[in-house]
Amino acid sequence: MLSFELTDEQKALVEETRRFTKEKIVPIAAECDRKHEFPLGVFKEAWEMGLVAPGIPTEYGGAGVGEVEHVLITEELAFGCTGIQTSFTANTLAATPILIAGNEAQKKKYLGMLTAEPIFAAYAITEPAAGSDAAGIQSRAVKDGNDYIVTGSKCFITNGAWATWYTAFATVDPALGHKGIIAFIVDRDAPGVSIGKTEDKLGQRASNTAVINFDEVRIPAANVLAEPGHGFKVAMQTFDRTRPDIAAGACGLMRRALEESIAYALERKTFGVPIAQHQMVQAMIAEMGIAYEATRLLMLKAAWMIDQGSRNSLTASYAKAFGADQAMRVATDAVQVFGGNGYITEYPVEKLMRDAKILQIYEGTSQIQRMVIAKNLFAGVRG
Ligand SMILES: Cc1cc2nc3c(=O)[nH]c(=O)nc-3n(C[C@H](O)[C@H](O)[C@H](O)COP(=O)(O)OP(=O)(O)OC[C@H]3O[C@@H](n4cnc5c(N)ncnc54)[C@H](O)[C@@H]3O)c2cc1C
Repeated sequence: MLSFELTDEQKALVEETRRFTKEKIVPIAAECDRKHEFPLGVFKEAWEMGLVAPGIPTEYGGAGVGEVEHVLITEELAFGCTGIQTSFTANTLAATPILIAGNEAQKKKYLGMLTAEPIFAAYAITEPAAGSDAAGIQSRAVKDGNDYIVTGSKCFITNGAWATWYTAFATVDPALGHKGIIAFIVDRDAPGVSIGKTEDKLGQRASNTAVINFDEVRIPAANVLAEPGHGFKVAMQTFDRTRPDIAAGACGLMRRALEESIAYALERKTFGVPIAQHQMVQAMIAEMGIAYEATRLLMLKAAWMIDQGSRNSLTASYAKAFGADQAMRVATDAVQVFGGNGYITEYPVEKLMRDAKILQIYEGTSQIQRMVIAKNLFAGVRG
């Protein structure tokens, strides 16, 4: 049987998160953005409610929710502020390689750290010379007994400056391409780890984005997640699981744009009538609704496939690419509905437009999603 109805538990979870977002995130989001400040107190409250990395299984102290529940939570948080939500969600991104490839001891220790205290973790693959071309990373891992010694630099790392530990990737030999890549966990306070500059960004300014340097950092065998030949697969499988969450961010942002636009259109008058009565404004609002609903269906399907244990690369990329592109368009149209006021920081929609742009870039750009989609389609994979 196919059902489009959420269960009572899912509805309650959405309600609870929606209330939290309305009370705690919406009122402070603009100021956090202006000041580049992250609301640590709100993060702690969300953590206590089980809204941070909620998919960590109960045996490691987490809420153990499924992927469908996870994206529902993310959508609600993103309605308030995708900058704040991105920092919450980055903990899940960091935890996912461990969920995929970690042994019991690694799961107990590192997932347990995330559930014992409200701390941050980060996922570090991008380098100055390798973003889209993730197999081209240059950070070097040299085998030393059973350990590796890693030297290199990671850039644009969400939660980079705040994280207690990182899941990261390096290569034993750049000439081997994806076959040379290892995955590992590294503690922030391991000798040789240092934090570089924190970036000043166009949007999502409440989140931290930083450079991480590894200078001959010893990675003990106990912290290795995947040996050469397997690390790249872990990186890609991680994205299959986390890209539906980017679509969820897009959904939250679009719903906010839609609600703000409807409220404004009903109140603002031109030519003697509310602008809501002008057909061209109605068309923009209608397109926002279409984009939100269609993204939401893709998001739920991509998440549901994970819960079913199905391969979801194609659908995850559909959801991520479509959602991100639609969010950018919807946020731009929200500014249009607000007219001159839309361009002014006093009103909420210019922030949505700035925040939306990164959805088309991180966790694989919109172009990279289309490459993944085409590869799958040519290989005969269908939704
Ligand atoms: C705010 C923020 C947060 C981030 N968080 C993280 C994080 O937590 N962890 C992490 O590891 N990384 C993170 N990133 C990095 C992000 O994932 C990369 O920036 C992204 O993957 C793009 O890589 P790039 O910047 O090197 O762009 P490039 O790879 O240089 O791409 C430049 C342009 O060329 C296009 N392009 C590249 N190759 C192709 C191709 N083959 N075909 C068609 N077009 C192509 C791209 O789509 C893009 O438009 C973050 C980035 C930002 C800005």
